[in-house]
Amino acid sequence: MTVTGGCQCGAVRYAFDGPVPAAYACHCGECKKQTASAFSMAVPLSYDALQVEGEPQSFQSAAHRGKAKHNYFCGQCGTRMWHSPDDPPEAITLKVGTLDDPSGIAPLGHLWVSKKQPGFELDPASDQHLTQPEDLVRWRANLGKGS
Ligand SMILES: [Zn+2]
Ligand SMILES: [Zn+2]
Repeated sequence: MTVTGGCQCGAVRYAFDGPVPAAYACHCGECKKQTASAFSMAVPLSYDALQVEGEPQSFQSAAHRGKAKHNYFCGQCGTRMWHSPDDPPEAITLKVGTLDDPSGIAPLGHLWVSKKQPGFELDPASDQHLTQPEDLVRWRANLGKGS
């Protein structure tokens, strides 16, 4: 099935072949800024798998281990859409909230639980980290596949 999504104003739209990969949440300070909320939720994808309409903008910031992170967003409405260590993007993390139908998608893992806002109960069966695993790429890829 085709999964679709886009920014809040509709200037950037995307589609990819489902199913939606396993999602995770991050409770770090950067993710609070980025979402203007308590945490972010994302799924790992290859940018090649994404058909994009519109022209996302990007800016660069530093990831937790000091590597470059490119943050892609709609230049008209500002909705953050995906991140990539590369520009142009190769491997991306796509923001779950930009899916047209994010219903039913629960995070199977949680990063930076040490920074979690009070008032959110996490599923005890989820894979929780006080900070983040050494190899984030592998952790994302293995989520939901039984360690
Ligand atoms: Zn937009
Ligand atoms: Zn984060």
